[in-house]
Formats: sequence, structure tokens, C-alpha cells
Amino acid sequence: MRIASGGVQHETNTFATTPTTLADFVRDSECGPDLAGFEVIVDRYRGTGCIHGGYIAGAEALGVELLPLLSARAQPAGVVQQQTFDTMLGWFLERLQAALPVDGVLLDLHGAMVSESHEDAEGAFIAAVRQLVGPDLPIVVTLDLHANISPQMADTADVIIGFDTYPHVDMHERGREAIELLARMIRGQVSPVQAYRQLPLLTMPPMQCTLREPMQSLIDRLHQLEAEPGVLTATVAMGFPFADIRDAGVSVLVTADGDEAFAHDKADELAGWLWDLRDDLTPKLTSIEDVMQFIDQHPDDGLAIVADGSDNPGGGAPCDGTVALRAMIDAKFQGGVVGVLYDPETAAQAHLAGVGQTIRVRLGGKTDDQHGAPVEAEAYIRSLCDGAFVHRGPMLRGVVDHLGPTATLVVGGVEVVVSSHRRQCLDVEMLRIAGIEPSHRRLLVVKSAVHFRADFGPLAAHIFDADTPGVHRPDFSMFNYQGLRRPVYPLQDHAAWPVPILDRQGNR
Ligand SMILES: [Zn+2]
Repeated sequence: MRIASGGVQHETNTFATTPTTLADFVRDSECGPDLAGFEVIVDRYRGTGCIHGGYIAGAEALGVELLPLLSARAQPAGVVQQQTFDTMLGWFLERLQAALPVDGVLLDLHGAMVSESHEDAEGAFIAAVRQLVGPDLPIVVTLDLHANISPQMADTADVIIGFDTYPHVDMHERGREAIELLARMIRGQVSPVQAYRQLPLLTMPPMQCTLREPMQSLIDRLHQLEAEPGVLTATVAMGFPFADIRDAGVSVLVTADGDEAFAHDKADELAGWLWDLRDDLTPKLTSIEDVMQFIDQHPDDGLAIVADGSDNPGGGAPCDGTVALRAMIDAKFQGGVVGVLYDPETAAQAHLAGVGQTIRVRLGGKTDDQHGAPVEAEAYIRSLCDGAFVHRGPMLRGVVDHLGPTATLVVGGVEVVVSSHRRQCLDVEMLRIAGIEPSHRRLLVVKSAVHFRADFGPLAAHIFDADTPGVHRPDFSMFNYQGLRRPVYPLQDHAAWPVPILDRQGNR
């Protein structure tokens, strides 16, 4: 049995101002200038906690020949340039054409990519693959929990399997589930029928977290549903709200073995559970000033973590926002850390000056005017490193990544880890390589909305969602949606569920 695999991963924040280019994919994919396939992908991802890690482990266990053709990803940012999307899709199709005949295709996609011409970029990607392989070859797609699943995606893929966790700690498991299900389809052991429901509902990252209620209990119910006889797999996609496109938001899928009516009944049931939670999915934000006051009032509690989700590069924000840092400096707060702040210019300046020197910096706030002004101050250079690290926490375990030349600066009473690559602070290793053991600090501000909870959560006595500005701020009043379908809750109060069922063309 021969299975081809591959895809392009991008979560596109259409409110972010920096476009995403081929150079971004080449840098972040670390698979060479043409994003090479086969052994390059196997070497990079074998044994790791990501989707291709799961595909590879599953293929080895099943004795299947896996042909990994492309594994492209770039840090979330603004819209993907059309030529970049077309080039990567072209590479995948060329390699797939050369690999034919295959028995099935696995697509490792995100589900919230927007290119200049395709607001549903994954829909376009799957459709192009479908066109090449024909209507009968099975295609199984893995998607992120933040996928904005469109009718076109649901219609052109035989099965879509989404992550069940946020922080995304089940990527390996979902990749493995996908290849195992595809192998059963190829052997004719199952006949999947997939039912899709798009809810008129938009939700924000902090409350999409599956380590918190109400999502924790919902995912437990999802797993009970998946264990029912006749259900092959089920998915809750919470959607990515920082995309002003028609299909942004929550959707669910239930795939049954052969029984279409049963799949539809179960999808309605699952959608109803989510709809009933809609008023419990609103985040509560706390100002940095209030957090500092709380820490002063609870001096013996241990580490407090502030999720500066508004500036989360994992959702396309610049990662150089200074609002929290400025507040800590102004309050003369001692024992605080900001990690990781993206500012290649300042990192280079520090590397030039050397450890132990004090330099005049213009730190952060350089990408746009929505995340605070640069902080102009004297900075002491505490440590320097090359930024290479291996994820050791529960998410992406084993995957090698690079912050680029990195400097730990002390500004006022605050330590700031300054990187040259834009990265979400989701693994404690990213601070440890910079000489910081967070459990020994009072306050840690992370440029992350939720993912940090997997590895940092056990170290924290308290976690707050920051009330800071930015293109990833979990607050619907900040965004002027033009392209989003209507009505959608909570933007329009009269949004109702159930809405009429979509036909196979996505029409009502
Ligand atoms: Zn995600």
C-alpha cells in the first residue's frame, strides 16, 4: 500500500499587516529552499509530536509505504502571497503526479489559511488534489482545532480529522488516527460518510482552551460520541476568529461507517452541545496593573503568568508589543520576565556589544502602531545565545526550532528575552536556553494565548488573560468584520441554531 502525504500549514490573520512570503515558509519549514520531501521530512519529524510524526509512526506500524511530498509551514502572519501559495501547491501536485499510482492521500493542512485570491485556501488546495487524483481515490485531511472549515473542504475531502486539544498536544495521535483510518478505507474495511455542520458562532482563543471549562467537558463528550458503535471519528473545530472571511468560526464533523442518516443525527447532536455553551465562551481580561497589584497582595503564592494573547505570534501578531513591558517598567516592578519579544535589530545590537555591557535600546513596537511604542531605555545584557532549542514540553515534543540570535536584557527590574525569529513562547526550553528558570520569578508575560499552558501551566500559581491591545486581542469589539457571513453569534444576537442544512454545494 502506497500513501502520499503533505501539505501547507498557515494560520492567516487577515487583520495583521505583514504579508506571508515564500521566504517565511522556507525559513520556518527547515526543509531546504524547495521544501524538499521524502527523507528530509522523515529526518525532521520522525518520532516527534506533530502530524507528520504521527503519519510516519503509523506507516511504520502498518507496514505502509509513506511518500511524504511536502511539509510547509510558516509562523502565522498576514495574508499569504498568491504566488507563494501557487508555488507550494505546484510543488505538491508535481511530486504527487510523479508518485502516482498511490492508494490514498493524507493532507496535513491547518484550515485557516488565506491567500490573496483564495479566502478558503485549504478548500482550493484539497480541490486541486481531488482534481488530480479523481473522485474515487480516498483523501483524508488533518486540520487544526482553529480550522475555519468551509463547505468546500468538507465536500472534497473524504474524511477530515481535527485536533481535539488546545494546547495542541494530540497532533501525533491525530496524524496516526488519520493514516490508520485511511488504511482501513483502502482495504475496504470501512465506508466513511461525513456530516458537516457550520454553526453561526465565533469564539475567542482563551476560552477555546481544552484544559479549561466548558471545553474540557465538551471534549469528554466528543470522545464518548466517537466511542459509539458506527462512529469512525468526530471533530469540533473552534475556528480562527482573526480572519475576516465568510467561513470563519465554529464547525463540527461526524464521520460514520456507511450510515449517512446516523452521521447527520450525530452531527446535529454535537452542534447542539456547542451551541448551548455559547455564553460560557467569553474571556475575562485583566490589566497588567491589576496583576501586579494582585502579586503584591499575594507575595508568597509563587509565579503568576500573564497571557499577552493580543500579541500572540502563534495567531499572526507581531510579537514585539510593549504595553505590558512598559507598565512593568513604569511601576518599577521587580522580578518580572517578558518572553519572547521579537526584535532582531536589538538582538543583533546586544550580540555586538557582548554580555555584561549596558546599551541604549529602542526595544520592540516596530512592526506596526497597534501594539505599543518602542521602549527607549538603558538595557543590561545578561546573557546571549544562538536561539537553537528542542521542544521538550507536551506540545511539538522533539521538534527542533530556532529563535535566532537571542539576548536576555534587563530593563528596569524586568528581564526581556529578545529573539531574532518571531516565535510563540510555548515551551519552557525557550526561556531556559536564555538563562531563565521561570519558576524562580514572580511574573512572566508570555506572547501566547493558550499554548503556553501545556508546558508552563504546572509552574504557575495564577494565570491571567491580559487586557492589552493587538491584532489577536480576544475581544470582538476591536474588529470590523466585512466578509464574515451573517448572522454570527455573538456579533449578531439574533443568530440561531439550527439553521437550514447545507446541500453538497454549500447552498441553503
Ligand atoms: Zn491552532
